[in-house]
Amino acid sequence: MRAITFVPGKQGTLGVTEVPEPEPGAGELLVQGLALGICGTDRELISGEYGWPRQEPMILGHESLGQVLQVPDGSAYSPGDLVVGVVRRPDPVPCGACARGEFDMCRNGEYTERGIKERDGYGSERWTVEAAYAVKIDPALGTLGVLVEPASVVAKAWEHIEAIGSRAWFEPRTVLVTGAGPIGLLGALLSRQRGLEVHVLDRAADGVKPALVADLDATYHAASDLKAVGFKPDIILECTGAGPLVFDAMLNTAEAGIVCLAGVSAGGRPISADAGQINRDIVLENDVVFGTVNANLRHYRAAADALSQADPAWLERLITRRLPLDRATEALERGQDVKVVIDLTT
Ligand SMILES: [Zn+2]
Repeated sequence: MRAITFVPGKQGTLGVTEVPEPEPGAGELLVQGLALGICGTDRELISGEYGWPRQEPMILGHESLGQVLQVPDGSAYSPGDLVVGVVRRPDPVPCGACARGEFDMCRNGEYTERGIKERDGYGSERWTVEAAYAVKIDPALGTLGVLVEPASVVAKAWEHIEAIGSRAWFEPRTVLVTGAGPIGLLGALLSRQRGLEVHVLDRAADGVKPALVADLDATYHAASDLKAVGFKPDIILECTGAGPLVFDAMLNTAEAGIVCLAGVSAGGRPISADAGQINRDIVLENDVVFGTVNANLRHYRAAADALSQADPAWLERLITRRLPLDRATEALERGQDVKVVIDLTT
């Protein structure tokens, strides 16, 4: 069968190659791959900027969607079910967090991840997954189920924002999302689903982003500076990882504001910031700044529910390019896309 493969840590090794058929082990589902979403992490992995180098090729892909072909005896799954495979697996020790199913919060860094860290991904015509790490998707969601993994990251961010907020009286009214990529737009969606006034800041003045935001009944600011927003939001979902915006976010929340950092920075671009002023602002306002990454099973289920409640036509517009498997390498080129999805059935 065909798969999208690369050698971690080695640039220029990405290709669509023939690999052996997967053999489901005990407790595993055999799945027909339907769709694979591509994100910035994939681009970093194939450029060698990020990842865990090794000699052998690995199958790329962590934003999965498939249809169950074969189930183990007594399984809660049936052939034909739509499933998404979870990305991370607990570390083998395991640490206290992993031992409690909170592997997204792993404390020792020895976790593994499908398509990212030491495990083959989901970018192949067929794949296997432990039934315990598969998430059943509403058939009505169809191929939009490929958005569950990126949405799971946002579902986790929101769970943590609410947990932090609950330390005291908490009734947020306004949210600012910085960056209108897939995570930012899904962040705006989940914020609107909570009945909040949502603002999205992004540099793009044209393309699909302004209309996607407007159609959520949210406000779009085509700018690269928080000054354009004109008020101090209760919550900022920072999805760009851009240094100046990160510092600006810390200085521009309302009292008892929460800044959720969900964008990964490249590093190596130092900027100067007034640490005293930032500290003063955070202390005197009882602000919280926190980082978040990855997701556990609970967040995948919350994401699947959130997407089921969203307008499918709006979700469809997030997928700005679809490519057949044979042209998968084109999906990794940087462009103006929101989300590129590879059709694994063609
Ligand atoms: Zn762990």
